Amino acid sequence: MSSECIFCKIVAGLIPCDKVHETANVLVFKDISPAAPVHYLIIPKKHIPSLLDATQEDQAILAEILFVAGHLGKTVPELNRNFRLAVSTGPDAGQVVMHMHYHLIGGRKLTWPPG
Ligand code: AMP
Ligand code: ZN
Repeated sequence: MSSECIFCKIVAGLIPCDKVHETANVLVFKDISPAAPVHYLIIPKKHIPSLLDATQEDQAILAEILFVAGHLGKTVPELNRNFRLAVSTGPDAGQVVMHMHYHLIGGRKLTWPPG
């Protein structure tokens, strides 16, 4: 845990979140500023600042995140089995919170390419 990290504080229960799903290594909660009818953040419970910091040891966690995304895609009715998963990495890509997170977005027609 990083004591300065807002998502670590959410994992630790020090800051509330609207929890959607949880596994041993992964937490899913609703984005506070949703960009679509469904906008979840899928995060590792472990503090990994960005995808660039993931190590070989973290490979199972990364796989768990993708598996959880697929599970949600099948089980959240609002998604209707259609969604986008995005992981912004670095400031030029729009990463603001330096605790790796996947945006799971859906519930409406999505356009491509993103900005
Ligand atoms: P990014 O720009 O990829 O770093 O995304 C960070 C996301 O975290 C943004 O979409 C924010 O709306 C979201 N966010 C920030 N703080 C919270 C919070 N306390 N609870 C839920 N979502 C948050
Ligand atoms: Zn963190």
